[in-house]
Amino acid sequence: MSRAAVFLDRDGVINEYVREYVRTVDDFVLQTGAAEAFRLLGRLELPIVVVTNQSGIGRGYTTREIVDEIHRGLVEEAARQGASIVSVEVCPHRPDEGCRCRKPGPALFERAAAAHHLSWEGSWMVGDSPCDMEAAAALGLRAVRVRTGRGEEPLPPGVPVEVTTDDFLSACRWIAGER
Ligand SMILES: [Mg+2]
Ligand SMILES: [Zn+2]
Repeated sequence: MSRAAVFLDRDGVINEYVREYVRTVDDFVLQTGAAEAFRLLGRLELPIVVVTNQSGIGRGYTTREIVDEIHRGLVEEAARQGASIVSVEVCPHRPDEGCRCRKPGPALFERAAAAHHLSWEGSWMVGDSPCDMEAAAALGLRAVRVRTGRGEEPLPPGVPVEVTTDDFLSACRWIAGER
């Protein structure tokens, strides 16, 4: 049996977008309303997967160890709100490395789905960047775009978005209302 999930981008959705990259634990600042958003997702009992491009690792601006420490804190904070982040999937590569895991590629999503028996059907993607919406479209996820972070950047033609909401919390309210 596979189950629906909520896939979340990180920077610009869960936490404040930093143009010069989140490099330290202190650079990771949750968006206003993030705790309430996790409480809502927890009540929906949907497993959560965070899917994040972290080319700052490949560029040498931060390290895998720091990124992992940030993610341990994030998983703990979500758990305090009753939400279950079952996996945080990270692409550490630079765009020029031509890896398969960098969004909008599907590999990070596929890895989490295989490990946690998740279905695309009935699942959601919440993201700010065009690459998040492209990934969602390719996999058939219901795409919710937020206006925070890179949420005002133009989408390539033909990339569908189910709804655009102000921020992470309003995205979760949309998801809750649709279930
Ligand atoms: Mg983002
Ligand atoms: Zn990669």
